[in-house]
Amino acid sequence: MEKAVDLKKTEVAIIGGGLTGLVTAFWLTREDVDTVMLEKSCRPGGVIRTFRENGFVYESGPNTGVISHPEVPELFDELEGLCELEPADEKAKKRLIWKNGAWHPLPSGPLEAINTPLFSTRDKLGILLEPFRKKGSDPLESLEDMVKRRLGQSFLDYAVDPFISGIYAGDPSRLIPKFALPKLYALEQNYGSFIRGAIAKKFEKKGEREKRVTREVFSVIGGLEKLVSALEAKTGNERVMTGISDLSVTPCSEGYQLRAIRDGADLAINTKFVVSTVGPYEFDTLFPFLNRNQLAILNKLEYASIIQVVMGFKKWQGMNLNAFGGLVPGKEKMEILGILFPSSFLRNRAPEGGALLSVFLGGFRNPGIFSLPDDEIIEKAVTAVKSMLQVENCNPGLLKIYRYKNAIPQYMHDTPERLAVTDHVHSSYPGLLLAGNMREGIGMADRIRQGKILADSIVAALQQQLILEKR
Ligand SMILES: Cc1cc2nc3c(=O)[nH]c(=O)nc-3n(C[C@H](O)[C@H](O)[C@H](O)COP(=O)(O)OP(=O)(O)OC[C@H]3O[C@@H](n4cnc5c(N)ncnc54)[C@H](O)[C@@H]3O)c2cc1C
Repeated sequence: MEKAVDLKKTEVAIIGGGLTGLVTAFWLTREDVDTVMLEKSCRPGGVIRTFRENGFVYESGPNTGVISHPEVPELFDELEGLCELEPADEKAKKRLIWKNGAWHPLPSGPLEAINTPLFSTRDKLGILLEPFRKKGSDPLESLEDMVKRRLGQSFLDYAVDPFISGIYAGDPSRLIPKFALPKLYALEQNYGSFIRGAIAKKFEKKGEREKRVTREVFSVIGGLEKLVSALEAKTGNERVMTGISDLSVTPCSEGYQLRAIRDGADLAINTKFVVSTVGPYEFDTLFPFLNRNQLAILNKLEYASIIQVVMGFKKWQGMNLNAFGGLVPGKEKMEILGILFPSSFLRNRAPEGGALLSVFLGGFRNPGIFSLPDDEIIEKAVTAVKSMLQVENCNPGLLKIYRYKNAIPQYMHDTPERLAVTDHVHSSYPGLLLAGNMREGIGMADRIRQGKILADSIVAALQQQLILEKR
């Protein structure tokens, strides 16, 4: 006897229930577009997850975002009453960089820049010439080459390299600014210089939407998972389908049919649009109809692996933590990428007088660490905190480890080829949209922006279809 299949019909099926999928589903539902979101794990949120324990509120994935697109405050406006954006305290403006056994603040003004031991005298003087240097002409120039050309080796080693570790856990010699840091790339291309571009932008007249792009660090009051719950509540639990396995997609006359298993039962969903928000490493099974060569090109996308060790101290007895955190340049040959101090700039993350820290390890700089057992990695993190933050008796009351194999996609030399294949798939299979952090940015703000743009494009396409059908 044939097994019963639960058959559903919808207009949009979203694969993956992380931030990208949730934001897309939220905006589509708000526009009354019939939508379902299919998530493999038993909860939505993807890498975003907040825990509460013994007076600590901590994140196992991302800790903070940056208000780098207007879509971020606009989303929080929509979620008013369910979750509230928490701007980071002023202390978050101070970033520390490790050099020769000590922390030094990353200069935030000209006077600090002159006095800092982070950069060489030659590069400090050379920066005066930055506005007059020729603009780059190779769109595939690496970040390392771009920074060396415009700012000098010491700026690469003690500003850009640690900054890139903090965002991409990546390697500046392999990342391509046009894709990895498009705003920085545009400064040089549009204004001929980073400095001239930054000054011009400061004085440019901004529209109301642009004014909301403050570049402030943000979290959510009570933790980032509050954003996940708010998006889920607004979208409607019945549209957020978790615990989905064996998902695969087939093109059919009305669009696409998705087959999967949920609660041991077969599920089939007929839909006009499919939005994928997952990494290309899932595509072989999700989209078996895609051409093998195309799949191979999409699968060239490399990811940095990250390990996050969270530590909570009920009573902090180490150095003053009045900063966002500290980053460690590759040149310094340390075991860790950096340490974030969330309780210094976010409210109620640790008991009064205590501290919450997140130590990051791994990345492109030290991929081998990922294969070590948990206790060895924790030992490295504790040793780093003890010596670098001057904690004599380093016995954190809270100690957790989280591993992410495919943590951050790296936008490298293969990006143009991958984007071309993605465009080709979109034109060959109308209604299939390959999105997520494989393109258009890795930060939470980029994910929020992409979700809105995806939803808008689907709403426009559905309206167009309706007009054509009425004719
Ligand atoms: C450790 C870490 C720290 C970070 N720190 C920051 C930070 O400080 N600031 C910042 O802005 N960004 C940070 N990021 C990046 C940012 O968190 C992510 O880019 C963003 O949250 C990704 O959201 P997403 O929805 O695109 O992907 P994900 O969150 O990865 O969600 C994808 C979802 O798809 C599901 N899925 C996968 N395969 C299938 C399948 N076959 N069927 C159904 N479902 C499937 C997964 O279970 C997952 O829930 C960090 C990322 C990591 C990993």
